[in-house]
Formats: sequence, structure tokens, C-alpha cells
Amino acid sequence: NKFKDGLTKTRDSFVGQMNELVKNYRTVDEEFFEELEDILISADVGVHTVMDLIDELKDEARRRNIKDAKDIQPVISEKLAEMLQKSENETKLNMQDTMTVILFVGVNGVGKTTTIGKLAHRFKQEGKNVVMAAGDTFRAGAIEQLEVWGERVGVDVIKQQAGSDPAAVMFDAIQAAKSRKADVLLCDTAGRLQNKVNLMNELEKVKRVISREISDAPHEVLLVLDATTGQNAMSQAKTFSKSTDVSGIVLTKLDGTAKGGIVLAIRNELDIPVKFVGLGEGMEDLQEFEADQYVHGLFA
Ligand code: GDP
Repeated sequence: NKFKDGLTKTRDSFVGQMNELVKNYRTVDEEFFEELEDILISADVGVHTVMDLIDELKDEARRRNIKDAKDIQPVISEKLAEMLQKSENETKLNMQDTMTVILFVGVNGVGKTTTIGKLAHRFKQEGKNVVMAAGDTFRAGAIEQLEVWGERVGVDVIKQQAGSDPAAVMFDAIQAAKSRKADVLLCDTAGRLQNKVNLMNELEKVKRVISREISDAPHEVLLVLDATTGQNAMSQAKTFSKSTDVSGIVLTKLDGTAKGGIVLAIRNELDIPVKFVGLGEGMEDLQEFEADQYVHGLFA
């Protein structure tokens, strides 16, 4: 279970604190719930989500007449799973019978290029014909980095020189992908945060070029977020989703944080499904998000 390995840091921290809590309190009382609240907030579960969860736990404890602190643990995992499963059917990618175009957006350093490489690998493994578009013409080294991934996983990268117009790169990439009868076109974009207005305008232009060539494309706009950045990731999600239609989230570097509760905050506080999670730097370290496995990974 990849989730189990990827969530080691979160689990160690969370379970460790939970055990400590149960040991210190023994009985489920108001103070117990306050401490539990702190633990959940420190795991980046998000204040609103924690409030909802604590309310449900209190109800459930009353209903089932739970007095012993250790008996509340299974209820916590139950409630977390319930919370996550609400919209689970949305986690599947919107794949087309003809070419599927997926646009990746997000700020520099979150793991966009790595995620594109990992997904390219996954599609290749499924026998699909994949093309990648080097649409981040701004960040130094972004094009080369995508090419390294291209070589690693055996996928062609369509590029122009650094500094060129990303919309022109997309136009080229779509023509190339069409003539190669590609099943999937994975498009990188720039992620400089210094100039939000320009960035969002550029994204809109890229999207316009894509949909002019293929009317219902892009079929997915995946926002990549770095789980280690906590509330910053949440505010990036809000910024991007305000100015562009984001169809799903990829949450990277879950393996690198003890605050893996961020998944819950994102699921509960944004109306965008988490479609994939990154659990390491290797090409296999990308998992479809599955609520059950995630919760299992947290408590296993
Ligand atoms: P970009 O600027 O958004 O394209 O980010 P990159 O793809 O260059 O990734 C930035 C760094 O994060 C690189 O060192 C990646 O290896 C690393 N990275 C990306 N995804 C993950 C992940 O899921 N887990 C870990 N541990 N590292 C990751």
C-alpha cells in the first residue's frame, strides 16, 4: 500500500499524539475534544473541517454512549472516511475516446513537471500514445527538465526556445499530437507567482488556443499543490480557481510532510476533487486518490 509508506510522517505524528491523548485523558470529555481539536489543526486538517469533525464526533460519542477515550479512535477514522467519500466518483480523469488534453497549472516548485512526468509514465504503461508540451517557457530549466522526464519515460516533448509564447507552443503541440494520433497531450504551463494577473491572462490565452483547435479541450485542468506548504496551498487553490476552471487537484509531496491532514481541508473546504497525490520523487510515486486507502494509510 503506497499510501501507507507515503503517509509515514503524518501517521507517526498523528498516531503518536493520539496515543498520548488517550493515555492522558482516558475519558471522553470536553477537554479531550479540545486537545483532539489541537492535534487535528496541527496536522493541517483545517479549522472548518476540524469543527465539523469534532461536532460529529461529539454527537456520535453521545449516541453510542462512548466514555472510554480509546473507543473513540475507530470512530475518528470512520468519520474521516465518510467525509472524504462524499464526492469520490469525481476523482476519475475525464478521458476521451479521441485525444485527451490535460493542462497543468500551479506555482513554481510545487511539483508540476514531476507530476507530468509521472502521469506520462502511467499512461505509457497503459499502452497509450503520449505527447508532452513544454509550455513553461519562463522558468529557467523548465523545458530541459521536462525533456529529462521525456527521455526517462519514453515520451516526446514538443518545445520552442525559452522565452517564447506559451500559446504558440500549445498550438504546435496540438498539431504534433494530432499528426501522431496521440491519446493524451500533457501540457506544462508557467507558474511564476510574482505577476498573478499576467500569469492568469497567459493561462486563459493558452486555454483559448487549445479550445480553438479541439472544441471541448482542455478536458482537465489540474492544479498542482505542494502538501508541505499547508495554508499556502489552500490560498493558491483559491487564487487559481477564482480565475480559471480547475477540474481537479494533484497534491504532491505528501510523503514529505507530517501534516497530511491537508487532504481533508482541501476536500472539505474547496469544491474541487483531489484526483492524484504525489508520494515521492520517482516515476511510480503518483497515486489516484482513494479515500479508503488514505484513511487506512493514516491509521494502519
Ligand atoms: P515545478 O516547478 O512545479 O515544475 O516543480 P518540480 O516538478 O520541479 O518539483 C520540485 C521538486 O519537488 C523536485 O525536486 C521534485 O523531485 C520534488 N517533488 C515533486 N513531487 C514530489 C513528491 O510527490 N514527493 C516528493 N518527496 N518530492 C516531490
